[in-house]
Amino acid sequence: MRVGIGEDLHRLEDGRTLVLGGVRIEGEVGLAGHSDADVLLHAITDAVLGAAGKGDLGAHFPSSEERWAGADSSLFLTEALRMVEEGGWVLANVDATVRAERPRLAAHLATMRERIAELAGVNVEQVNVKAKSGEGLDAIGRGEAIGATAVVLLEAAPRD
Ligand code: MG
Repeated sequence: MRVGIGEDLHRLEDGRTLVLGGVRIEGEVGLAGHSDADVLLHAITDAVLGAAGKGDLGAHFPSSEERWAGADSSLFLTEALRMVEEGGWVLANVDATVRAERPRLAAHLATMRERIAELAGVNVEQVNVKAKSGEGLDAIGRGEAIGATAVVLLEAAPRD
């Protein structure tokens, strides 16, 4: 088995659509970024790559490349999983925490969880998404940014 950790932080920016865990959350301020700025999928993708010893998101999908401008971050996760599966690993589980002062995410957690499981091709029980507010402290607590942390466990694919 192999474990990986991923972290990310994006600044909130007016005029952007908020996308978290592959889910568009309407009527909220979005996140600044070269891609769709899905901070949760970025953290999970980094954890997947980390568990397999395959570097990080920035190395595979550099923000200096025009082709990733406005990219759907779902593509980063599915491509990272394809790479680790090629190496003989499958996703055992993912656990993640999103830190946001706003919006309140409780109502969206189940949808994010289902979407991530769907993208990863695993059962929803293998994915967990939690939310924490920032308690008014730091940039997240002041409502200037949203952060995410993820832990991923990979296990050796069964031999057939
Ligand atoms: Mg990011």
